Order: sequence, then structure tokens, then C-alpha cells
Amino acid sequence: MKKAVIIGAGVGGIATAAFLAQNGYAVEVYEKNANPGGRCGQLIQEGHRFDLGATILLMPSLYRKVLSELGIDLEKDLETTSLEPVYKLFFSDGSDFAFTRNPEKMKAQLEAIEPGSFPKFQEYVKEGYEFFNLSIND
Ligand SMILES: Cc1cc2nc3c(=O)[nH]c(=O)nc-3n(C[C@H](O)[C@H](O)[C@H](O)COP(=O)(O)OP(=O)(O)OC[C@H]3O[C@@H](n4cnc5c(N)ncnc54)[C@H](O)[C@@H]3O)c2cc1C
Repeated sequence: MKKAVIIGAGVGGIATAAFLAQNGYAVEVYEKNANPGGRCGQLIQEGHRFDLGATILLMPSLYRKVLSELGIDLEKDLETTSLEPVYKLFFSDGSDFAFTRNPEKMKAQLEAIEPGSFPKFQEYVKEGYEFFNLSIND
């Protein structure tokens, strides 16, 4: 049996290890931290959970594809939760901002901070989506 060694148990290392194992390799994964996950990991301290990086399931189609090739159905086999708001930002002056998918709520919050900013935000999102499509398409 061929042997493969993976350094790092982030999502990249774990996915690579799973594909290699699926293809008949004996895989060893070495991780410098106490727990796997890397930037998708979490820290639990005094009863509070902190995401070390990722909080949102971005590009679910990629996760769906990789998981399905490993025999896992993202929707059926894993529990995903749709959050609203997606997340909330708290500022040192006591104010907060809810990052929401609801355009009306987003508009109200942005316009309260800077009148006229919502159309700029929409333009920013549109441009980001164009970059996203450029990067995702062959
Ligand atoms: C602040 C932040 C927010 C993010 N938000 C999102 C989000 O909302 N949604 C999303 O999809 N993505 C998000 N990302 C991106 C996502 O977290 C990363 O793209 C992804 O986790 C990277 O995975 P990786 O396996 O490539 O690398 P990493 O997660 O960095 O994994 C590398 C692993 O290798 C280990 N390692 C490194 N060197 C060694 C060594 N010498 N020996 C042993 N082990 C070693 C590390 O400890 C780590 O566990 C975010 C990233 C950050 C930083």
C-alpha cells in the first residue's frame, strides 16, 4: 500500500487525506495544533465559542461536490443552519451593525450611518459577484 503524509489538518489537508485514502493510500495527517480544522476550527473559552476563521459556508457548490465525491450528502448527512442576521458587528462606541440578507434592513442601517451609501454597497456587491463568477468559471 502506498503511503501519503499530509501536513496540516485544515479543510484542505483533510479533503486531500480523504481522497488519497479513498484511492487506496495509507494516509497519515500531522497537525501542529491540538485540534483539527485550521482556519475552520473553533476555540471554546469560558463557555463561549469563537470561530477561528470561517463562519459562513461560502461556495457551497464546491463543498457539495467534494463531499459528494466522498459519499457524503451535504444537505442530508450534515446539519446546516441558515442564520438571519448572518452576523452582527459590535463597535466600541456601543453601536452595532447586523449583516443581513434582507435588502431593506441593510439599506436602513447603511443609510443611517452614511446617507447615500446603500447604492454604493449594491455596486460593491455587484462587482464582487462579477469577480466571483470570473474566479469560479473555467
Ligand atoms: C478571519 C477569516 C474568516 C474567514 N471566513 C470564511 C468564511 O466565512 N467562509 C469560508 O468558506 N471561508 C472563510 N475563510 C477562509 C477559510 O477559513 C480558509 O480558506 C480555509 O479554512 C483554509 O483551509 P486550509 O486547509 O487551506 O488551511 P488552514 O485552515 O490554514 O489549515 C492549515 C493547517 O495546517 C496546520 N499546520 C501549518 N503548518 C504546520 C506544520 N508545520 N505542521 C503541522 N501542522 C501545520 C495548521 O495548524 C492548520 O490546522 C476565512 C478565513 C479567515 C482567516
